[in-house]
Amino acid sequence: MLGVGGTGMAPLGIYLSQTGRCISGLDDNLQGPVRDLISTHGIHICDDNELPANVEAVIYSSAVTAEHPLLKQATYQGLPCLLRGHLLARLSYEKKLLAVVGSHGKTTTTALLIHKLRRCSFDFSYVLGGFFQEGSLPPAHYSASSEWLIAEIDESDGTLQSFYPEMTLALNLDWDHPSQYPTVVHLEAAFEKLFERTRGAVWIPEGDEALARVARGSGCCPLRHFCPTSVSFDKGVGTLEPSVASFNIWNASAAQSLVQTLCDASYEVDEGGDDFPRICRRQELLYEKDGLRVFQDYAHHPAEVAALMQMMRQMFSESRLTVVFQPHRYSRTRHYFRQFAEVLGTADRLFLLDVYPAGESPLVFGHTDSILQSLSREAAVKTSFVSEWSRLAPALQRSSESPQVILFIGAGDIDRAARAYASVLEYPNDKRRQWLSCTQALVSSDTSLKIDEPLCNKTTLGIGGLACCYADPANRADLRRLLDTAAFFGLEVFHLGRGSNLIVPDEGVEGLVIRLSHPSWRCIQPLSEGRLRCGAGVRLKELCTWACRLGLGGMEFLEGIPGSLGGALRMNAGAMGGWIFDLVETVEFMTREGAIRVFTHNACNIDYRECSELREGLALSAILRSPGRGPQEGIKARLKSLASRRKQTQPCEPSAGCIFKNPSDDVSAGELIDRSGLKGRRVGNAEISPVHANFIVNRGGATCAEVVALMREVRATVKNRHGVILEPEVGVLGKRWEHLLQD
Ligand code: FAD
Repeated sequence: MLGVGGTGMAPLGIYLSQTGRCISGLDDNLQGPVRDLISTHGIHICDDNELPANVEAVIYSSAVTAEHPLLKQATYQGLPCLLRGHLLARLSYEKKLLAVVGSHGKTTTTALLIHKLRRCSFDFSYVLGGFFQEGSLPPAHYSASSEWLIAEIDESDGTLQSFYPEMTLALNLDWDHPSQYPTVVHLEAAFEKLFERTRGAVWIPEGDEALARVARGSGCCPLRHFCPTSVSFDKGVGTLEPSVASFNIWNASAAQSLVQTLCDASYEVDEGGDDFPRICRRQELLYEKDGLRVFQDYAHHPAEVAALMQMMRQMFSESRLTVVFQPHRYSRTRHYFRQFAEVLGTADRLFLLDVYPAGESPLVFGHTDSILQSLSREAAVKTSFVSEWSRLAPALQRSSESPQVILFIGAGDIDRAARAYASVLEYPNDKRRQWLSCTQALVSSDTSLKIDEPLCNKTTLGIGGLACCYADPANRADLRRLLDTAAFFGLEVFHLGRGSNLIVPDEGVEGLVIRLSHPSWRCIQPLSEGRLRCGAGVRLKELCTWACRLGLGGMEFLEGIPGSLGGALRMNAGAMGGWIFDLVETVEFMTREGAIRVFTHNACNIDYRECSELREGLALSAILRSPGRGPQEGIKARLKSLASRRKQTQPCEPSAGCIFKNPSDDVSAGELIDRSGLKGRRVGNAEISPVHANFIVNRGGATCAEVVALMREVRATVKNRHGVILEPEVGVLGKRWEHLLQD
């Protein structure tokens, strides 16, 4: 399943998995909680972005374009490739389908149906197009014993014509998805045909003229109506008055009518909806205190936004209404920018974000700017365009008097901004907790997040303070989320490998320290022609062991360097006349913006203990090529001899490797320090090693200040004696040597 994390794809994946099929999924942008959910339902997630070897068919989301490399590869291999909607249609042929369709409210209504039918112990299968809130129901369920399948059928991808429902519940009809339906007539025609193909009843709301017209055109029979009843179910946002002509009343009434039909005519109207397991991103209350409430909602059509804003106005009539809106898709924005401007312009304060493209290419008039230009003069005054999320929280806070409702609206990634802002409110003045609470909601449970994490036990020198925020991501999508939230909270990001060439300041690090030590970064995969694909978290020692086992010679010089591959690439680590980039074929890294780049050896800017692409970028993996195969015994012997040589020439006390770079090929830093008579020189518990003068060792309890003081003394002495200014090889986390070592 390509794009397995989507709101349509993940439930379908779970359903397929429950039918006994073996499902693997890929998604560049998999949300952490969704990852947890689908993993627990047996879906294997392919983090390596490759098609599994034994794949029989590929299902892809409508957000996956024909240019997707794996879709192209699957087509080339002659594998059947099906759009999600087409597969759902096929699965529905095995059952009696109750199709929930319409422009708005499908997910809520389907969820209500599921909830109510379960309360009646009705046996059925279902596929939702969204997620219940954490810890409640799964978004899909397969029942072998029932003939019924209840599913939300999406019109946006043009697969409506593949469905042959037993019953259809149509909630409403508003023109949307202009890229799929050029005019409203096209959309109505698609619904008309669906009604025609429906074997049993078609249900529509009483008084809905558009749907009544469509139903008449289709000649469907029998036609049934549902009308608003006095139901209340909404505990999350307070109980709705039945008199409020709210969209949720209609949704609940529709569900009620169908439950009565499916279960038993004698089934009483269900008054109790209090235990309705709420759906993610539907009027979801994220924060409430002292009259200030923050909600998020998935609305992305002007009619939905209008209904939502009206509902909030009615429920919280005393409150100011602030709206943060992220338009969804260029095509929709282009068609509806005037309507959006009209609806959104009624907010007391409005913040507009850039369009979330959902895979679309930019279109003229499809940008947020079109909405901005269409606002009335009065509305424009209270509107701000926010191009960077990090500016959103301060802007919102400036106008956060209560009582106030702040409503984050959109179907794109605005949920992250909403959560981040709710965390800002939850933990005022504590950026670490803000980051933690927001990020926890966005990454998978395998990713470890900590605040005030000691770093001294993560470096070989064993000194230094705490990382204010610390993360050990379990996968690439979580890593991306970490970069997003770090940007939102204005946290500087630092990379930590095995800490064997790093010094941590005593006062710690103000920012986010990311370390790739989760097992998912520690894979070694043998490839053809003496090559290995290695994760950035692989230890150089493991690499040497693997290479030896496979008879891959020429990597032995890495033996005894106590770092990870990521750190070694950043430092272009080397020994015995070789350096790691001699072995590199390609390096894969993630930019600060979360994009993945692959550089070939020749395209990398490398130098002595330097790879400049990795100053900012985080190395994820590399393909290394052995210069030549050789018998295992020979490799083993070389490894052994190099290890014993290191033992003799390097100290065994905690150190950070060579402190200074060699000033030239002919003169080593160690030699100059030794000739300056500094071996054994101590500041506090930091000492110039008597074994190797370019190592500072921790004699127990040394501090960063002591190490820095010793380095300054060494530099000054070597400069005086030999006229050479030594430059540090070792890094310092969160600080610059220029500042620490200046006279
Ligand atoms: P760290 O020390 O954690 O980090 C080093 C730098 O890399 C930092 O700037 C960090 O931000 C960055 N970094 C870490 N991970 C990544 C990543 N995934 N992507 C991008 N940047 C990253 N070095 C040699 O070259 N030759 C030697 O012979 C040698 N011998 C040593 C002997 C001893 C006893 C010790 C303690 C060290 C020695 N070193 C040597 C230094 C050190 O082991 C190497 O530089 C090693 O490659 C650093 O890897 P690390 O994972 O520990 O990186």
